[in-house]
Amino acid sequence: MKAKFLAAVAAGVMSVTAFSAALAKDLNVGTHPVFAPFEYMDTKTNQYKGFDIDMIREIAKRNGYKVKFHNMGFDGLIPALLTGSIDIAVAGMTITEARKQKVDFCDPYYQAGQSLMVRAESKNVYKDAKSLEGRTIAVQIGTTGADFAKTIKGANIKAFNTSADAFLDLKMKGSDAVITDRPVIGYFVVSNPRAAKGLVQQPIVLDDEWFGFPVKKGNTKLLNEVNAALKAMKEDGTYAKLHKKWFGN
Ligand code: GLN
Repeated sequence: MKAKFLAAVAAGVMSVTAFSAALAKDLNVGTHPVFAPFEYMDTKTNQYKGFDIDMIREIAKRNGYKVKFHNMGFDGLIPALLTGSIDIAVAGMTITEARKQKVDFCDPYYQAGQSLMVRAESKNVYKDAKSLEGRTIAVQIGTTGADFAKTIKGANIKAFNTSADAFLDLKMKGSDAVITDRPVIGYFVVSNPRAAKGLVQQPIVLDDEWFGFPVKKGNTKLLNEVNAALKAMKEDGTYAKLHKKWFGN
């Protein structure tokens, strides 16, 4: 195969770029694209978009991979890594001790933390973890937001497949607050003014979390390739550029 492509390049019928593209191996990326601004589907173009998506595209390019996205539920990502149906998960995934028992995380790439969305009329009532004791909290299944909610005394937890479903439940008064990643709440408020009408983000960060891309335990080849690209992207300004594109200053 390789010899055939090399011959084509030598004969001048194939460009070097086309040659490397033809040889590029697939990087099977699992994602749950309902987590803007980290990953979402652009409904107009049907394209994967977001900070994580740009990051993995660049990381793949720097290592000669062609990205192949796999759209799956958030709680299906780690199982998919374990069975090998994906190589890496790109999903705003927080590095946790429990997850580290099952998968290896590449170096942390984004500092995050949980925050609260509430209805405007209860803005002065539900403003921290303490005030939510015994209340109903909407979360996304299998997330660190759900884990955090479980630490609140007497809380009744409603788990949804996506944060958007949790926000809707809050709006419909099915719950008193949503706990999810701070930038996701902020982005939702700004980019979906109609859906977010009557909802407000509390100016609080409940914990300190770091996002990382997990790979199958023992896949040091991919881990090292990703880490080298992350390091280079921080050094050459690519990371800062993408950060600015998605989060502003
Ligand atoms: N950061 C949270 C977690 O890792 C939520 C991620 C997500 O919903 N995509 O659990």
